[in-house]
Amino acid sequence: MSMDVIDSRPVGGPKRLPRCNPQAHARSWLRAMIFGAQLRCPSCGEGHLYEDGRGKVVNYCPHCEEELYHHRASRMAPWFSAFLSAHFAILAALAAAWLLHPPLWALAVPTMILWVGLTWLLMPPVKGMIVGLQWAFRLHGFQYAAMCKPRHPHKPHQQQT
Ligand SMILES: [Zn+2]
Repeated sequence: MSMDVIDSRPVGGPKRLPRCNPQAHARSWLRAMIFGAQLRCPSCGEGHLYEDGRGKVVNYCPHCEEELYHHRASRMAPWFSAFLSAHFAILAALAAAWLLHPPLWALAVPTMILWVGLTWLLMPPVKGMIVGLQWAFRLHGFQYAAMCKPRHPHKPHQQQT
């Protein structure tokens, strides 16, 4: 079943989602980003966000079974973490240049190593924050996941209480 046929609301209609899920209207983006930065599910904050510890987001939260495969953070996370870590690396390079006056190669090599290392370290939390933000604002398929429909296309429908 294609995800395109689920949303049958007319174009230009009300922006409110159906009130099938009572929690569908109460999503805090700050809470979701904090949970994402902690590598946890943006919905419950309990289940692990990554299958392999870093990189691959789980399709469903192992704790609350929230659908997480709707995220589109795969390409944004490396760029954003490189952008953030470049600011730290450049600040460190400027401080070292001002305090130590090293030759250019002795400044450039540690700065590049610091930049790549920080990018690698920041990638999982940054990606988790992006997934949390997309979940909180119901971007991409998260909008459909908040509506009434079976939680798992390949599993029998579970009644929500
Ligand atoms: Zn969860």
